[in-house]
Amino acid sequence: MANPAADAHVARLCPACGLCCDSTLFADVELRLADDPQKLAKQGLTLSPKGRGKLAFAQPCPAFDGQLCGIYADRPVRCRQFHCGLLQRVEAKKMTPAAALKIIATAKKQAGEVRRLLVLLGQKDERRALTHRYAEAMSAPLDLANPEQAELHGTLMLRVSDLMHLLQRHFLQ
Ligand code: SF4
Repeated sequence: MANPAADAHVARLCPACGLCCDSTLFADVELRLADDPQKLAKQGLTLSPKGRGKLAFAQPCPAFDGQLCGIYADRPVRCRQFHCGLLQRVEAKKMTPAAALKIIATAKKQAGEVRRLLVLLGQKDERRALTHRYAEAMSAPLDLANPEQAELHGTLMLRVSDLMHLLQRHFLQ
């Protein structure tokens, strides 16, 4: 059933955010039974097997243009169902849209800093999920003769910890 108030919140907050489509919150999205894999594949999603008989597509999502979903009317079930914690609190009038936008801006700034550090550590492929790039950066052998690299590793760990804390507190619950 149409809910104009909820739609207005989505229209105001989601284009300013995108963290659930750009791999900051999720490394992939699993399809549900009601999804049409063939249609989604034709629309540009690359589907891969995940677990028992399941299909998923990796994030960052190729349908995301940096602000909006390019296949919004046909987006997968999981994308329709996911309402982050911020959106839920705004919908429940427990938080103002302005306060939510401030938290979104902080999260995007922190995610941007993590991405900048990853690039400095050689993880330059923006088509791969943030968590995968982070895992690879941290598992690469440390060159102890290179104190700058060791410092970058330490800074990255701290920035990722800050980001995870913020995402967990405001977006994932
Ligand atoms: S299909 Fe649309 S809503 Fe779902 S992850 Fe991709 S851009 Fe986001």
